[in-house]
This record gives sequence, structure tokens and C-alpha cells, in this order.
Amino acid sequence: MANSGVPIQPQDTRHFFMLPQAPEDAGYYVYGTPPNGRGQYAHPAMMSMLLYVEREWSAIDSRQFGVGNISLAGGVPYEHHNTHRTGLEVDIRPLRKDGRHDPVFWYQHELYDHDATAKLIAMFHAYAGVQTILFNDLSIPFVRPFRDHDHHFHVKLLP
Ligand SMILES: [Zn+2]
Repeated sequence: MANSGVPIQPQDTRHFFMLPQAPEDAGYYVYGTPPNGRGQYAHPAMMSMLLYVEREWSAIDSRQFGVGNISLAGGVPYEHHNTHRTGLEVDIRPLRKDGRHDPVFWYQHELYDHDATAKLIAMFHAYAGVQTILFNDLSIPFVRPFRDHDHHFHVKLLP
């Protein structure tokens, strides 16, 4: 092989790459199911958005935001879900005041960083091609409520 020690980024049958699994200096960390990026195959437009927002975010905040499910390899359906098949949808965790890489619900006022989460959502919203952001903290502009979207928000790009 011509490759000399550079790790090969996994790619699926659609030629979508797996989201880089959060190098230490990245503005995001990864979570989701299944683990190790197997639910993080991203359409090129999604990859561009995440890397762009990640750069913007790390310029204003040293905490990392959590990136969860995007799509499974080949766009096969998740059990119980019919979304997250195109690589154009992503789940993002709200920011915690303590910066820990753990979930937080928007109504956990001791832990949830409303202002930082609002800034992060504004960055996604400003990105060209974002169609909807689903999240149940309705004090944040632009979001629409959706069942179970209390500890993550769901960003959908236009096809
Ligand atoms: Zn989602």
C-alpha cells in the first residue's frame, strides 16, 4: 500500500467519510450509538458544516460540544428511527456549565449552560443550508419542539 502510516478515514458505500473521532484539540467530542463513529457517517455537506462550526466555536469557548448520531454506514435505518439515514442530520448535546462530556437536559438549571447553547445553536442556524433545528428549550430562537429532544438538538441540512 502507498499509505505510509497515515490512518485511513473509514468511508462507506456512499463514499461518505466517518466524522474524525475528535482529535484532542478539536472543538467537539464524539458520542452516540453505536460507538467509535459507527453512527457518524456524514454527507460532505454535513462534514463541512461540522468542521466549520467547530472552528467558529473553538474561537469563543474552550469547552467541546458533543456530536452524536449522523448516519450508519450505507444509510441503513436505526432500530426505532426513520431519521438519520441521509448523513444530513446530526444530534448535538447542549453545553454543560462544567464542560463535562456528559448529557444534560435543558431543564437542569444547575448544569445546563443556556447562553452557551444558544450561541452554539445560532452558529448552526447561520450556516447556509440548515433547514430545521429541533430542541425543546423554546427560549432559544429558531428551534422547534420535538418529542425527546431535551438532552440533544437535531440539526437538519437541506438535501
Ligand atoms: Zn436526531
